[in-house]
Amino acid sequence: MDRFEEIKEAIEFQGFKGKPSVTGGKILLHTCCAPCSSYVVFKLKYFYGMDVTAYYYNPNIYPKEEYEKRYEEMEKLAEFFDFKLIKGNYDSERWFKKTEKLKDEPEGGRRCYICYALRLKETALKAKELGIEYFTTTLTVSPHMKHTIINRIGKSLEKKTGVNFLEENFKKQNGYLYSVRISKYLKIYRQHYCGCLYSMP
Ligand code: SF4
Repeated sequence: MDRFEEIKEAIEFQGFKGKPSVTGGKILLHTCCAPCSSYVVFKLKYFYGMDVTAYYYNPNIYPKEEYEKRYEEMEKLAEFFDFKLIKGNYDSERWFKKTEKLKDEPEGGRRCYICYALRLKETALKAKELGIEYFTTTLTVSPHMKHTIINRIGKSLEKKTGVNFLEENFKKQNGYLYSVRISKYLKIYRQHYCGCLYSMP
């Protein structure tokens, strides 16, 4: 059984709806963690037919041990779905400098917009450097993340860098539910907080 059939059966997948806005080509996927990436990679590969390279750029994740742990889970996912994975720099100091004035903002507030923008910008620049024609992010799979803001940032980076942004809302059509099911099936660690120090329980 190939990976698509295996996952389809494991998550009781009802099928993709609609037509993809693009088909084929290479995409650099900003990945925040393996649970969110699970369904996003599944969709990029089997709905969009894209050649996926994941870019793990997350200087927001605190502490460093958690950052490494999430990366190790990404490695497992990359092996299962057979995609390339690049580890970015852990620019933790840079992230803290950009967000410290907004440390008291609620989750989903202005601090998060800066956090989205920083990670998306690095992804767009990396895609440009590698000659990859598209970029996108796993962030929109989470019900806590605002896809309208994320897509707006992505589109503005498209204008600035010339790399096409794949606008998506991966949580739609049960995307989040399927990401939970794939993670459970593959026994992937699922964290209990978004990532930064300020979001820790
Ligand atoms: S809550 Fe999540 S998105 Fe918001 S700043 Fe922290 S890590 Fe970034």
